Amino acid sequence: MKIICVGRNYAEHAKELSNEVPKEPVIFIKPKAALLMPEKPLYYPEFTDDLQYECELVVKICKNGKHIQEKFANKYYDQLTLGIDFTARDLQNNLKSKGLPWEIAKGFDGSAAVGTFIPITAETNMRNISFQLKKNDEQVQDGNSRDMIFSLDRIIAYVSKFFTINIGDMIFTGTPAGVGPVTPGDKLEGILMGDKVLDVEIR
Ligand code: MG
Repeated sequence: MKIICVGRNYAEHAKELSNEVPKEPVIFIKPKAALLMPEKPLYYPEFTDDLQYECELVVKICKNGKHIQEKFANKYYDQLTLGIDFTARDLQNNLKSKGLPWEIAKGFDGSAAVGTFIPITAETNMRNISFQLKKNDEQVQDGNSRDMIFSLDRIIAYVSKFFTINIGDMIFTGTPAGVGPVTPGDKLEGILMGDKVLDVEIR
């Protein structure tokens, strides 16, 4: 099982981190040990002084595939939730400035928090999914999948050119603007189409 992540998939977020809006999806992978299951706390890692949240729509893959065409990509996922792509921003900035891979800043244990998955039905419009993140009861991010630069189906078509995708894999689809730091004691809450699906406490 792997966790496939997309970077810079919302123009406003790319801007807030002074990144260019990409012409092709920016892809990275988190290992299985990065998964933080629902209701589990995240212990603030000792190797960073700037741990940040990025709330993202997450889908679960339900079918193995490679070289998937965009028009068939919707057959490959059947569940949706919110996740937090936790990022050690200081490490990431340091690595980025040297042109080095970010893995340790993005793929550490617990860095991929997921909420409770809900089924995707015929009524779910994947191009109009609204979601919010609250930090200590205050809304800090407000996103909608219609603002994604690359649609989920486009991402699956692109990624599957390089990696076989497998049942149980998850795709983190990128974060909207409003990312920011957390400190021990903070409580994060993710709201997906009006329902709370995600709860993470920082310890
Ligand atoms: Mg992210």
